[in-house]
Amino acid sequence: MTVLALHAVRRVAIIGCGLIGGSFALAIRKARPEITVTAYGRSQTTLQEALRMGAITDVSSSLTDAVRDADVVLISVPVGATHETLSSMRAHLKPTALVMDAGSTKADMVATAQTVLGENMASGASPEATSHFPLSHFVPAHPIAGKEKAGIAHAEGDLYANRLVILTPSSATAAPAISLATALWEAVGARVIQMDADTHDHVFGAVSHLPHLLAFAYMNGVDPSTIAMGGTGFQDFTRIAGSDPVVWRDILSTNRTEILAQVQGFEQALAQLKSALTEGDTVQLQTLITQASAQRKAWRVPVPLSDSNAIDD
Ligand code: NAP
Repeated sequence: MTVLALHAVRRVAIIGCGLIGGSFALAIRKARPEITVTAYGRSQTTLQEALRMGAITDVSSSLTDAVRDADVVLISVPVGATHETLSSMRAHLKPTALVMDAGSTKADMVATAQTVLGENMASGASPEATSHFPLSHFVPAHPIAGKEKAGIAHAEGDLYANRLVILTPSSATAAPAISLATALWEAVGARVIQMDADTHDHVFGAVSHLPHLLAFAYMNGVDPSTIAMGGTGFQDFTRIAGSDPVVWRDILSTNRTEILAQVQGFEQALAQLKSALTEGDTVQLQTLITQASAQRKAWRVPVPLSDSNAIDD
């Protein structure tokens, strides 16, 4: 049994209908009005707001109800809650469903899927005790879109327009599942590429996770009595420090090994600048700034950006 083609998808379930899940729901409703979109989450307030915004067509009162008839399930909870969410739903999924997560870290998601879904095949447990849902229908995804504001109230139907979405299928992932995941993200306006999960975590450790860690450290270290005078440089540098604490606790924790390695590289770069300052070596100081400035000027955004959307992840 395989997943459906996009034209045959009739029901999508969003598990965790915050910024990322709510934006996907809004976008798929707009692109494919024939698809019903249900949601399940912790708080009724969030679900009722999603309903009011037109992001979803109905609210599910349990995880089981949400996924039972779904052709596609998007898990968009903080990455630390994915294991429990996937475990709780696996026995209730349709064998033909596609399940995607939208987490910002990917090696842990591949491992989670392998643990939760792979054990169905390995354990020898009775079919009644386990799900028939195949690991091959799980596609890890990471939309490179978002912002520092969490929650359904900040969801936008065009959040994924012209954004990258990275799929990190494993060797167990079936080609039709990758095709449907690609078609869904393209339907909401995104450009889809594939990458292996370890490469993803290295790359996004560098361009997303480390910068967030540094922004948090800076805000904790800066003299609070000075920040009222902050201008555009302060605003640009610190915007991501306002990100959601739970979402970012989980991202930093799950990509810890990679981030710690990159913190070492950052400490060396900081030490070079500190040494030039300490020694009053203005030539070296200028050299280091020139190197950084040239690297930044050479950078180009990977896809066109509109003015309204930042490109967080
Ligand atoms: P969010 O706005 O806070 O939404 C998270 C949703 O998950 C909320 O609906 C929340 O329910 C639910 N939730 C929170 N903790 C839960 C738990 N322990 N168990 C079950 N449900 C839980 O966060 P988000 O920004 O959409 O992030 C969701 C995922 O997308 C994360 O994995 C994140 O790494 C990833 N992501 C984020 C961005 C970004 O820029 N923010 C970009 C790309 C990917 P309630 O509403 O009831 O609290």
